[in-house]
Amino acid sequence: MAAKTTRSRVFGSLNQQASAWSVALAVLIAGLGLTAFLALDNYQLYQRQLSQRFDLLASERFIRIQERLDSQVSRLDSLRRFFVYSDVVSRDEYNGFAAPLLDGTQAYSWSPRVSDAERADFEAKARAEGLAGFVIRERGADGRLEVAARRDEYYPVLYTQSQSVLPLPYGFDVASESLRRETLERARMLGSVAATPRIELVGLDKEYAYGVLLVAPLFERQESSAELRGYVMAVISLGDVMNEGLPTQDNLAVTMLDLGSPAEPQLLYQSHVQAGEGDLRVSTLLNLGDRDYLLEVRPTEAFLRTNQSMAGSVGVLGALLSLMLAALLFSLIGQRQRALALVEQRTSELRQREQQLRVTHGQLCNVLDAATEVAIIATDLNGVITTFNVGAQKMLDYREEEVLGLFALEDLHDPAELQAHAQRLHNSGQARVSAGQAMLVEAAEPGHHAAREWTFRRRDGSTLTVNMLVTAVRDDQEQWVGYLAVCIDVTERKRVHEALAARDLLLQRLGRQVPGGIYQFQRSADGEPRFNYISVGMCQLYELTEEQIVADASTVFDRIHVDDRPSTVRLMLASTEQCKPWRDEFRIDLPKRGVRWIRGEATPERLPDGGILWHGFLSDITDMKRVEDELRALSITDVLTGAYNRRYFQERLQAELRRVERYGGQLAVIMLDIDHFKRINDQYGHGVGDCVLQDVSRTIGQRLRTEDVFCRLGGEEFIILCPATDAAQASQLATSLWQNLRSQAMDGVGRVTASFGIACWRPGEGADALLLRADSGVYAAKQAGRDRVAPERLEPYRAEPDRV
Ligand code: GH3
Ligand code: MG
Ligand code: MG
Repeated sequence: MAAKTTRSRVFGSLNQQASAWSVALAVLIAGLGLTAFLALDNYQLYQRQLSQRFDLLASERFIRIQERLDSQVSRLDSLRRFFVYSDVVSRDEYNGFAAPLLDGTQAYSWSPRVSDAERADFEAKARAEGLAGFVIRERGADGRLEVAARRDEYYPVLYTQSQSVLPLPYGFDVASESLRRETLERARMLGSVAATPRIELVGLDKEYAYGVLLVAPLFERQESSAELRGYVMAVISLGDVMNEGLPTQDNLAVTMLDLGSPAEPQLLYQSHVQAGEGDLRVSTLLNLGDRDYLLEVRPTEAFLRTNQSMAGSVGVLGALLSLMLAALLFSLIGQRQRALALVEQRTSELRQREQQLRVTHGQLCNVLDAATEVAIIATDLNGVITTFNVGAQKMLDYREEEVLGLFALEDLHDPAELQAHAQRLHNSGQARVSAGQAMLVEAAEPGHHAAREWTFRRRDGSTLTVNMLVTAVRDDQEQWVGYLAVCIDVTERKRVHEALAARDLLLQRLGRQVPGGIYQFQRSADGEPRFNYISVGMCQLYELTEEQIVADASTVFDRIHVDDRPSTVRLMLASTEQCKPWRDEFRIDLPKRGVRWIRGEATPERLPDGGILWHGFLSDITDMKRVEDELRALSITDVLTGAYNRRYFQERLQAELRRVERYGGQLAVIMLDIDHFKRINDQYGHGVGDCVLQDVSRTIGQRLRTEDVFCRLGGEEFIILCPATDAAQASQLATSLWQNLRSQAMDGVGRVTASFGIACWRPGEGADALLLRADSGVYAAKQAGRDRVAPERLEPYRAEPDRV
């Protein structure tokens, strides 16, 4: 556990602080350092092993050479003893004994001691034994053997057994040369084997021409003081001794020095192979006979080659391994870092998702808790309740713990209603389901999201109407795991809806019954007109359908009579701009009923968005208008004669006077009074008088222009208002009327005449002054005898009182 922690700490640290590059570099450096150390150690080991191997090899070589040298000595000694223990040794016996000893020796010879006195006999005897021409010889100046000079004694070669194919040097006096003689003397003195220095041998192949002559003295008896019989000698080629049994590729370079030389050591032997580089060498002392040799051995190139150090390979291999390890670590750490980064990223994503889930779960819980007016009920597949939120508890008066796992959703329902719904489903062709499943089967249908109203029961048994939406709940794998029911108490809403429906019905009835149209008209902030509500009466009023009016409000405005549009528009604008009540009477032009008078009233309400909403009422006032017109006509008409009455005359006179005063022009009045009317009354009765008044009125009226206004001022006095008429025209008209009247006879009363006065308006003149002047004219006509038209008077009678 601790190791694991440490490792993870180390890798964690690696991960955080060191890049793959730095780790790989560190490992490479460490690897290279270790490699260098190992290579050095290996080199040192190699050096030790090389030295040991060389020592071993050299020691073996020393022993072998020494053995050979000793073998030479012992074989020579055996030959000596052969002679010692034989009285007479024949040539054949010699050959037979010496031949097997030739292994490793060039030749074995026997040189007896011959005194000068015995020389001739000796030579003769030898020749007699078969050695033709045998004489004692010595080497001459040219190196050839020649007959030896006379000396006291000779040591001629008598027997010789040689490996050489050259003629055997029989008769060669061994003591003829100083070096050999000295050795012979030494051997004789020592009584044991002695060896010459390196000398040129006789009778041998050139290859073996130089070597050592090993001599052993042979005495008559065993004591050295006894008489010397001669010498047995072994001719040894040092090269042969050294090289015997060696492989062609010798690992050792051997040098042999003769330490017996008087001056300096004489090089006795040097192997063909060269010594290699380095200071490896070993030397030892050997002895052959009485001679000491210094044998020095050094390793050759071949030895060094076959015993090469592995340090280089170790270095290369170590460097390679370090490199590979560094590359591997780089790759592994890189992969680990990438993996860690990926894990970190995934972990971060998971944490984020977990956080989101926690937030979502929290939100969901909050929603469930906050939804105090909405019942949220979750069930399992069997309908058993698993979630019962605050809204549900409040709505149905159950506590959560009383319901969870104990109640099914159907327990909250009105059983009869569920039963009826199940039956309805069955009737519609579905398989029969239990009442408990009746509300759930539709929720399981794909894409079903329709809410339905149900009756629920509270704890106290009271019922409420809920709008319930049931959906199937599925898990991540789309497995169906239960249901979720969201219920809203719609009891109050239903009551309000019913009340609103009743209100709508009432409004509809009112709209239908009220003689006129009720509407709600809105002009939005950007000026767009729209009818929000219109009663049936509106459609009847304008001979339009509800759809036409709602779709396009201008259809209503297009019905307004062309002449009334300007005033209508002005009033509407005033109401819009000042947000004041609108009231107007105008005509509309209908396709079927023609022109109708409409009265409208509306109260505006400014909307928050800047628009204005009018609540208004429109009624058809055509009939009322007609009555009004009739009343108006009656109010300005004289009932008896049908002419306008005095009040109307006054209104028109004032209006005409305003016009001429503002715009200028002509205006004249013609006043007339029936002459002696009292008499007619008196004579024919008041009724005839009335008829006369009517006839006069008709007669005058027939002669007038349409723009002239004919009025009865009262009694039998009439006046005619003549717009745009000057004095001449007025006089002409008055004359014409006078003549026309007086020329006709009235029924029952005969001719009726009248007196006429004229007054033309003068700028600045008022109504009273104008009428006074006309009346003055009538008066003047009366005064002048009646039945005439008096000329216009420029001044009224002052003395007369105003008669108008
Ligand atoms: P003059 O020529 O001077 O005008 O004499 P006159 O008789 O016409 O005038 P006067 O003013 O003396 O008489 C007018 C009479 O007209 C008096 C009155 O009884 C009569 N009268 C007034 N109104 C009516 C009416 O509506 N019907 C009838 N039949 N008579 C009326
Ligand atoms: Mg009168
Ligand atoms: Mg009169």
